[in-house]
Amino acid sequence: MKKLTQEQQQDQHQHLDFIELQNNCPLCGGQLEFKVQAQRESFSVREEASCPTCDVLARIKDHKMH
Ligand SMILES: [Zn+2]
Repeated sequence: MKKLTQEQQQDQHQHLDFIELQNNCPLCGGQLEFKVQAQRESFSVREEASCPTCDVLARIKDHKMH
């Protein structure tokens, strides 16, 4: 009878680690502040990352909701 080894199970989890979130400002390396806004009209969620130190908007990302 075959059983998944612990190694194989870890392999499956490791794929998640590749989704790396960029949480630092590209300019000063400081921590970014995130704002998430739901946009009902387009059924999406807008994610804004900004740096309070540099006062720049580092990233805007739209996620579709399904
Ligand atoms: Zn910065």
